Amino acid sequence: MPDSPGGGTGAPATLRYRADAVVPCDGSGRVLRPGVVEVSGSTVTYVGPDDSRTTETGGHPVREVRVTGALLPGLVNVHCHSPMTLFRGSGENLPLDRWLKEVLWPQEAHLTQEDVYWGMTLAASELLCFGVTTTCEAYFHEDALTDAVVDAGSRAVVTPGVLQLPGTGSGDDWWEARTAEIVAFHGRRHGQEGRIEVGFAPHAAYTVPVPVLADIARAARGLDALFHIHLAETEAECTLFAAEHGQSAPALLAAAGVLDGRVLAAHSVWLSDEDMAIYERHDVAVAHCPQSNAKLASGVAPLVEFLARGIRVGLGTDGPASNNDLDLWEEIRLAAMVARIREKDAGALPAGAALDLATRGGGLALGRPDLGVLAAGSQADMMAVDLDSPAFVPLLEDGQLIEHLVWSGSSRLVTDVWVAGTRVVENGRCLTVDVERASAEVNTRARRLVQAAG
Ligand SMILES: [Zn+2]
Repeated sequence: MPDSPGGGTGAPATLRYRADAVVPCDGSGRVLRPGVVEVSGSTVTYVGPDDSRTTETGGHPVREVRVTGALLPGLVNVHCHSPMTLFRGSGENLPLDRWLKEVLWPQEAHLTQEDVYWGMTLAASELLCFGVTTTCEAYFHEDALTDAVVDAGSRAVVTPGVLQLPGTGSGDDWWEARTAEIVAFHGRRHGQEGRIEVGFAPHAAYTVPVPVLADIARAARGLDALFHIHLAETEAECTLFAAEHGQSAPALLAAAGVLDGRVLAAHSVWLSDEDMAIYERHDVAVAHCPQSNAKLASGVAPLVEFLARGIRVGLGTDGPASNNDLDLWEEIRLAAMVARIREKDAGALPAGAALDLATRGGGLALGRPDLGVLAAGSQADMMAVDLDSPAFVPLLEDGQLIEHLVWSGSSRLVTDVWVAGTRVVENGRCLTVDVERASAEVNTRARRLVQAAG
């Protein structure tokens, strides 16, 4: 039976998780072995060593939960189009521009709300089993996507996409109407269940006119909402943009006031020093997607330089059609590897810094210091990792646990997952999604979409 944090009247019961190890990912680099995490309702109230807690907390009853293994915060995937499980494996081996125009967009034009619901539902089960408790989603049919996240017991920053797909709309009025639609959606769904945040995701500077981007950015700032955009992903896109506009996309967007609010720039592979200085000045956060950038041959983003400049960086899988899974553990390791190749430095991006990108760093990139960390006041999103695996042997000192998590650990070792204090994965099985049904729905719907696109 799932743990349930609340129930009844009055103050929520406190659950005290006693684990073989707790890795809080709070920036201190510490490992508590053994450790305790206390959760009241959907919030963490205490994290510390196992020796300091008695059975009562402020007169409220405490329920003890024994956790075999290590407790970590749930991972934060900051750039994702999860319903694209529907397109997994489509258009393999094409460069980004041809893949978008020839394969993806013609199919996306035929998507229904139900397609997106099932695509997101299947993705949510995959994400949760990997210990990914928050995703920042850029996609269409946002109500269906949000329904799926709510039903799966997951957490998301839902940033509805703004992009004119073939046959779905055109003209200046369309952009305005779409922006108004997202503002209304924000009013309807933002804050739902304490697990949904709403932002805006205009696709890119080369697909959405800059004046429209400025309008959307203004709407986002008015709601203190996240503005999420693909930026400087491929060299060809940047060369074309500069030839057409006389300056880089970051420079033009900064001049147009687009970068003044909470901005998250996905990919950001091809940036000049001046572009990076713009990110720094405008506190633009980066969604670093090393696997998507590698698979689509987009390039290697200057991660070490971002971090040296104090630019906030989180990790994203990108959509399951360009990755092709939603496993953020792979991104952690690949981020460290490609950073070392790029810098020609075996000491670049140590394990702690790599893990930080998928946890606390991801939360900060989203402007959410309550995510990706186990600390008093943070969201009770966490995962248990099986320490009995050979991946953690030998364990000669506590700090080595973080090295092992990054260099020999994997999503397969995640046993249990909680979101907002409620257990959603138990012994590797997702409790909230009928995976067999979701797989069957996605199979059928994917086939129909291929046929519809001709
Ligand atoms: Zn993307």
